[in-house]
Amino acid sequence: MKSQLDDKSKETLTKQGYSVIGDHSVVKVCGWTKNTLKGKGGCYKLKFYGIKSHKCMQMSTSVSCANRCSFCWRDYKSPVSKDWDWGVDDPTFILDESLKAHHKQLVGFKGRDATPKKLYEQSTDVAHVALSLTGEPIAYPRMNEMVEDFHSRNISTFIVTNAQFPDCIRTLYPITQLYASMDGPNPKTLKELDVPLFKNYWERFIQSLDYLAMRNDRTAIRITCVKGINMIDPQGYAKLIQRADADLVEVKSYMFVGASQDRLKFENMPKCEEIKVFTHQILEYLPEYEYISHHDSSRVSLFAKKTFEKQTWIDYPKFMLDFPKQLEDFKKIDFKSVEFKHRDDPVEDRSYLV
Ligand code: SF4
Repeated sequence: MKSQLDDKSKETLTKQGYSVIGDHSVVKVCGWTKNTLKGKGGCYKLKFYGIKSHKCMQMSTSVSCANRCSFCWRDYKSPVSKDWDWGVDDPTFILDESLKAHHKQLVGFKGRDATPKKLYEQSTDVAHVALSLTGEPIAYPRMNEMVEDFHSRNISTFIVTNAQFPDCIRTLYPITQLYASMDGPNPKTLKELDVPLFKNYWERFIQSLDYLAMRNDRTAIRITCVKGINMIDPQGYAKLIQRADADLVEVKSYMFVGASQDRLKFENMPKCEEIKVFTHQILEYLPEYEYISHHDSSRVSLFAKKTFEKQTWIDYPKFMLDFPKQLEDFKKIDFKSVEFKHRDDPVEDRSYLV
């Protein structure tokens, strides 16, 4: 079967510090994982959700994506596709090899003066995976087997999707926290920033939000704010957040890094204060949510449903224990009801269509 990555792409990715696993997966140690091992503190997900950065592996099961987001650090030579048109690697192979590659990338920290011995030892026991490195991880056709494998090894799962594959959101087994990107409050802005391959990108996005609303795991919306482009219409964002019935919302600054610097300007990167102001503007339309926290280095604010009572940290051992029951309940969800809701929408309400 065809490989998603040809030899030249694999070589380029390797030079950029990625470890290529099989034909479509990659692993790269996160800067925050390294920071923690240097005793410099963890990422914003430590502050918000209790993720231990030195025990976190960053990877993706698909380098290919269906969008060409302007703010992405990848360049446009990275593969893009609407379908899975390649061979499918075995999930256990991907996971085993990813863990090996992750540990290999970290082995240089062993014995370093600046790295506490205990922290390095703990890092060899991965407890979290962030499937958000690059591409669209949930497009990988055997993702559910992989989710089960992660959880059977007590590895929590955070996955970020661009919300262009609603059927993958519908069928994905419960994970620890599922994110959907929301890069605009209307079709025009979303198209301008995300540059989607799909013509019906807005309908796919809306269908994704409706499926998200029906899921029984923790869901989050991430808004990547690009100053001068999508920090508009807070009420529009609020309506979409309500439609997705998201548990949590992260409002995060675009970062002026990588290939995005060719497409955007430094001035497009909002400051912490601007992120906080925009977060509160959205919150004005969401009485059922409340502000939780902000992380300065990542320029990200978090708000959550009031039902959380400001306690957004995750009890990871409990999640692992509850997973079999959660999966059983998930299989009973009638996702068809929202498909029909779409078909029955009166024409005047179909503003989400392109
Ligand atoms: S959760 Fe994300 S930012 Fe934090 S250590 Fe893991 S990969 Fe890095």
